[in-house]
Amino acid sequence: MPRRYCPPEGQIVQAFTFALDPTVEQAAHIARFFGARRFAFNWTLERIKCDLERYRETGESRPAPSFYALRKRWNGEKNAVCVNDTTGEVWWPEVSKEVFADGVKGATDAYWRWQQSRSGQIAGRPVGFPRFKKRGKDRDRFSFTTGVMRLEPDRRHLSLPVLGTLRTLENTRRLERLISLGRAKVLSVTVSRQGEHIIAAVRVSVARPQQSGVAQPGSVVGVDVGVRRLATVATASEVIDELANPHALERRLSELRRLQRQRCRRTPGSRQYRETATKITRLHAEVAHLRRHTIHVFTTHLAKTHGVVVVEGLDAASLLQQTGLPGAKSRRRDLSDAAMGEIRRQLRYKCPWYGSTLVEADRFFPSSKTCHDCGHVQDIGWSEHWTCEECSSSHQRDDNAAINLARWASLGSVGAPVKRGAEHQTEPHSAAGDDTRKGGPAPVGPNNSVRSAA
Ligand SMILES: [Zn+2]
Repeated sequence: MPRRYCPPEGQIVQAFTFALDPTVEQAAHIARFFGARRFAFNWTLERIKCDLERYRETGESRPAPSFYALRKRWNGEKNAVCVNDTTGEVWWPEVSKEVFADGVKGATDAYWRWQQSRSGQIAGRPVGFPRFKKRGKDRDRFSFTTGVMRLEPDRRHLSLPVLGTLRTLENTRRLERLISLGRAKVLSVTVSRQGEHIIAAVRVSVARPQQSGVAQPGSVVGVDVGVRRLATVATASEVIDELANPHALERRLSELRRLQRQRCRRTPGSRQYRETATKITRLHAEVAHLRRHTIHVFTTHLAKTHGVVVVEGLDAASLLQQTGLPGAKSRRRDLSDAAMGEIRRQLRYKCPWYGSTLVEADRFFPSSKTCHDCGHVQDIGWSEHWTCEECSSSHQRDDNAAINLARWASLGSVGAPVKRGAEHQTEPHSAAGDDTRKGGPAPVGPNNSVRSAA
């Protein structure tokens, strides 16, 4: 069973990321490590599968897959397994042992997540049996948990086992300061590839200074993440804040569409095709960074200002998605779904930091199509403005939804919750093919779905 690190009282675990600027040799080493991690992952998965197979055939008892046992087995077999086919050389000594350990850990953790998911111990979408990793289909990454992991005092370099000292593209001041003051301790470093960049995520246990509390402790707000605007913030009676999609983001999105059309016209594998593909990768990264920055600023402000923040419940967005929108609209909807997930994730950890309370509304709560004047629920399709059939008041979609969410905190629910569990289909996930589960997780009632973070 994967174990989680618990920081001591008064400390939290936080990750700081820095883009690296490796030398040519270091870049080659890093690429090799990415492959080595995949190799160890696949080797471990193979062993787990073989053990399962034998157990099913002969009924012979087998030890539950554990990281320590499998790592020991890896160390016993690596001389026979890590052999270059053409030269016959044993190649494992060129790679840090931490990288192999990370691959073994990845596979055992994936196995246990599948086990926990099928026995109902973890919520959310069913987790499939782990699959073999393939270059290009897998996120290139590896982690160090022991050995030299040091931010150099010049604030421009990071030292790692085997790779040596790597230059960072950014100044590491914000973290180096905490470490030299003794307020933070490095737990692990994960190196990954994101688009064209190599990123180091430094996981630290850090003592956070006591916060003085939120600016308006009595304030209760609902947050709706929309298609037209990124987010709308409202109290139980009125809209107080709107977060428009940043202009820079819109501009890049249309540029992205243009480049994607251009790539379609070009011959796959040609020089021009590769050039356009590189531009698309770069633009994707820019779009992601812009969106992330905007959302971070927004959630920090919410968590620092209001006593209670109410957001849409988990899965509400993915249920809406199934109504099947055509083309561009559905893509925009995907974007706002992703934004909702990210906003919820950030608020979950930022609210406790700043002393605010996060409430997640029931996932079947129809926040958009409930009239906030009379509580009438009607089907409103995808229209931005709509008029209530009962009291004939007119509403703007996002404004209305945000107000309803703000009221959720005090009322528990507004109007009758609409259960749509039957429509919630789950895709077959299991790669093993013999453990496909039917149906989604059970619908959550209004009482136990309100989760407050103390
Ligand atoms: Zn009404």
